[in-house]
Amino acid sequence: MRPVILLLLLLVLPLSACARPGVAERGDGTPLRVVSTTGQIGDAVRYIAGETVQHSTLLGPGIDPHTYVATESDIRTFQRADVIFYNGLHLEAQLERVLSQLGRTGRVTVVALGETIEPSRLLGWEPEAGMPHDPHIWNDVQLWKLVVEQIGATLVAADPANAASYRGNTAAYLRQLDELDAYIRAQVATIPAERRVLLTAHDAFGYFARAYGFEVAAIQGISTEAEASTADIQALASLVVERRVPAIFVETTISPRTIEAVRAAVRAAGHEVALGGELYSDALGAPDTSAGTYIGMMRHNVDTLVAALGASQ
Ligand SMILES: [Zn+2]
Repeated sequence: MRPVILLLLLLVLPLSACARPGVAERGDGTPLRVVSTTGQIGDAVRYIAGETVQHSTLLGPGIDPHTYVATESDIRTFQRADVIFYNGLHLEAQLERVLSQLGRTGRVTVVALGETIEPSRLLGWEPEAGMPHDPHIWNDVQLWKLVVEQIGATLVAADPANAASYRGNTAAYLRQLDELDAYIRAQVATIPAERRVLLTAHDAFGYFARAYGFEVAAIQGISTEAEASTADIQALASLVVERRVPAIFVETTISPRTIEAVRAAVRAAGHEVALGGELYSDALGAPDTSAGTYIGMMRHNVDTLVAALGASQ
């Protein structure tokens, strides 16, 4: 055998021994384990990694990430994982300590996706409360694309054997997100500008408002951890009356109690405001529904807004 061919074989052989595109494997031959906290993240991982990895999503439909506390079984799932993706920016306020501790051990790749975004692109929030940035980044599709790219790059680094598949799937998903972004813009354009007021129970739609031209008001602040006061409810009722807001919205992860209190206060002032329907703020819908994917959830939200605030109302 000519030396040059032997050299080439030597270069190729060790690679082919570990490069087995298909199922991503850890050292012991079992599949690579990936855990996502929110459904939005989990959906992107599922799209990019498919059956290549063993994947689980922690927070199901209707689960509030701000207040969720890890169970013992969650901790075991985290400890067994190879890669953990979480939103960060204090969205999963009760999980942050355990996740950052796990990341520091070096045994697990732990990625706070929101914290990989250039801070100048984030909305500010309450620095005095230790929350300098609004964590609801998925509500701006262009911003969320940065997160999707980061998920793709992390999977490529964790499992180079399947890099081509991860890169291809990431690119395909990004194209779908561009279509989603265009859909939202076209739908919002049908709502008269003065009606683009989005009033919800907690302040999850700041990025949506910035990206798609809405004014937002919410009863609770960025996190659901603090309770709304009577004064907050009165202030919002006054806004509804002054601006003649036609509809306000409940959220799937928040009790409708506070939104009903605003409606009652508006009624007491001699006006009516409709319930515009249910928005998915912090969690996806059930897997078998149209809001069970990130794209489906975003479409549901904008369709709900158009139905309640659009020109035909
Ligand atoms: Zn939230």
